[in-house]
Amino acid sequence: SSKQRLLVVANRLPVAAVRTGEDSWQLEISAGGLVSALLGVNEFETRWIGWAGVNVPDEVGQRSLTEALAEKRCIPVFLDEEVVHQYYNGYCNNILWPLFHYLGLPQEDRLATTRSFQSQFSAYKKANQLFADVVNEHYEEGDVVWCHDYHLMFLPKYLKKYNMQMKVGWFLHTPFPSSEIHRTLPSRSKLLRSVLAADLVGFHTYDYARHFVSACTRILGLEGTPEGVEDQGKLTRVAAFPIGIDSSRFIRALELPQVKEHIRELKERFAGRKVMLGVDRLDMIKGIPQKILAFEKFLEENPVWQDKVVLLQIAVPTRTDVPEYQKLTCQVHEIVGRINGRFGTLTAVPIHHLDRSLDFHALCALYAVTDVALVTSLRDGMNLVSYEFVACQAEKKGVLILSEFAGAAQSLGAGAILVNPWNITEVAASIGYALTLPADEREKRHQHNFMHITTHTSQEWAGTFVSELNDTIVEAQLRT
Ligand code: UDP
Repeated sequence: SSKQRLLVVANRLPVAAVRTGEDSWQLEISAGGLVSALLGVNEFETRWIGWAGVNVPDEVGQRSLTEALAEKRCIPVFLDEEVVHQYYNGYCNNILWPLFHYLGLPQEDRLATTRSFQSQFSAYKKANQLFADVVNEHYEEGDVVWCHDYHLMFLPKYLKKYNMQMKVGWFLHTPFPSSEIHRTLPSRSKLLRSVLAADLVGFHTYDYARHFVSACTRILGLEGTPEGVEDQGKLTRVAAFPIGIDSSRFIRALELPQVKEHIRELKERFAGRKVMLGVDRLDMIKGIPQKILAFEKFLEENPVWQDKVVLLQIAVPTRTDVPEYQKLTCQVHEIVGRINGRFGTLTAVPIHHLDRSLDFHALCALYAVTDVALVTSLRDGMNLVSYEFVACQAEKKGVLILSEFAGAAQSLGAGAILVNPWNITEVAASIGYALTLPADEREKRHQHNFMHITTHTSQEWAGTFVSELNDTIVEAQLRT
């Protein structure tokens, strides 16, 4: 075909692979944010490159999985267990993730950390090199290569080393922190330089882009311009591309008979009570303890509400083999238990806390019956849950309480009630305000948010990034 080819490179492929025999595989598409973002972009012929999430040590397995994935337009990168441990669990999730969310670097035994830091950093580079090898092997002239997220910060540099002509974009799905935070990272300069090898670097918000440019000027001594970062006449374009959701997928789901039935059941189950909802991975950045403590304070100060409101908290397990995440799970369970003991009755409890994920249809039904959604992230790149809630609220026009530290606060700020999640008193007061907001005010706020999420979709996000990347390269050629 004459369509331009787009190689999307991300740590994880959009399919989960389960081995069912020596050379047979069962593949399941996982409809995450990035997948649905790119499904709608049909001006390109898209290929996915990434890790399949399984360890495949044998050649028969690798060959058969590669063949099975080819049918889904996916190309696997094989990583052995040790590399996954050091690169993915170690450098990505234990160092970059907390740092980019302002939680700082790990502070255990400093000597031990220094040593494991070095080996994790080596594994990170090694893994990025393996990704680059696979991209290079499948690259054809004219392809656009779009690298995703903090897992692959070395990829732009490694790709350009293979081929200076390659069109390379890199997008970060987390916040990029203040340069004062980034400065603490031992490998701060190397990471920045590698990312700068890309032609276009994208972030969710203008603030993250500005932080990145500041890091490059202050740490590397380069020149920041309104267009991006300049190094000896070579420009790396830096800009904000706020992601969206496939809003029509949610709106359509609400019309399905099984979802309507589910909505009816939930309404019956919680009749006479207002429903508040939280949906988060069980991660420290989501501010789940802070949210539950604010709900407790609200109940404490407003006894009339005690049997008239329920908080449903879906806490999706994540990184469960990391001790800090296990500790968080225990901490949340303890708070929920205490509050339910304190305010529960023989027949009802104020908090329903679920340690599991829901399927798409169940999630849509929950969004639709919610009166007040509570998003209290301490830091969050964008937060798509807030968008999905809005998409499902055409009928109910419920209220969104949203952390000012989520990227979404930049786009839904005028429709949501913005809060500082660290200020438990403020969040508790906002819960009371949201629960009693008059219908016309709710309608106005909802319309504002709904307009935003239906016009700034994931498809538009992906399309804009790739055309900006193409334009950036044309402009660079004109300059030389
Ligand atoms: N999600 C899901 N099942 C669940 C709960 C959440 O698939 O039981 C999805 C949700 O629809 C959303 C994503 O997980 O698309 C969470 O994205 P968000 O940007 O809010 O946070 P992240 O987990 O990426 O930090």
